[in-house]
Amino acid sequence: NDQLILQFNITLFGRNDRLLLVRDITRLHNLEQMRKDFVANVSHELRTPLTVIRGYLETLLDNADILPERWIRALQQMQQQSDRMENLVSDLLLLSRLETSDRQADLKPIYLQKILSNIISDAKALSGDRCHHIQLVCPEGATLLGHDRELHSAISNLIFNSVKYTPAAGQINVHWWEDEDGGHLSVMDDGIGIDPKHIPRLTERFYRADPSRSINTGGTGLGLAIVKHVLIRHNAHLEIQSELGKGSCFICHFPPTIIASENSPELVE
Ligand code: ADP
Repeated sequence: NDQLILQFNITLFGRNDRLLLVRDITRLHNLEQMRKDFVANVSHELRTPLTVIRGYLETLLDNADILPERWIRALQQMQQQSDRMENLVSDLLLLSRLETSDRQADLKPIYLQKILSNIISDAKALSGDRCHHIQLVCPEGATLLGHDRELHSAISNLIFNSVKYTPAAGQINVHWWEDEDGGHLSVMDDGIGIDPKHIPRLTERFYRADPSRSINTGGTGLGLAIVKHVLIRHNAHLEIQSELGKGSCFICHFPPTIIASENSPELVE
């Protein structure tokens, strides 16, 4: 389309002087739009063949007893890798949806204790025999106005990361509290921690503090980018504190405007 997009910057200098800078960012904006469309289309197109491949692999592995031994291992590897690709495609689609959808649409009261307990059960399954201790502190009526699935996905990413990057039997604390600044959700672990030099870049797509270790955890490298975008949609922001070898703390700060009353009639279960 032939829309012109201009960016205005006013700089004050001296007592009464102002400098108005007008920049034509049409090309930049169109390129960014093309990138978003491209990612959304490619992810969408990859999903169908992937689903078919995964279906066939599942059928083959369901009949593992009649397959030669040496095939089984190869098929299991293929299944593992196609699961990884499926996660990647889902994360890319979610990210492009977050970037393009309307900020204020579909806000619903979310009952936090319920959503956090569900995610923690899944995190315990992920932890398996590594037996992390996961503790939740959240007042019973805590409710916020938000997007159910998006918040679920952002909070899961934070809690699952704590499980992934904390050695066996580590401690993970999930805490929600409210004060005059709004609502705050912290996810704290005593895991491997992050070198401070990486912290400013962690929410970039595919940025990893320690690529070799992260690849082994099976993550997509998009988790914290998703968290960032979900928080932007809720006018919230992420604070990251970490010390290498000691542990990390990720805190989501939500504004008072989206904290809902205790007895909200329409809770998302
Ligand atoms: P990934 O799929 O690699 O986990 P994320 O975007 O979720 O991608 O996280 C980006 C990087 O941040 C990770 O690769 C890891 O290096 C670091 N990280 C995230 N959470 C933690 C944590 N709780 N403890 C230590 N490092 C973490």
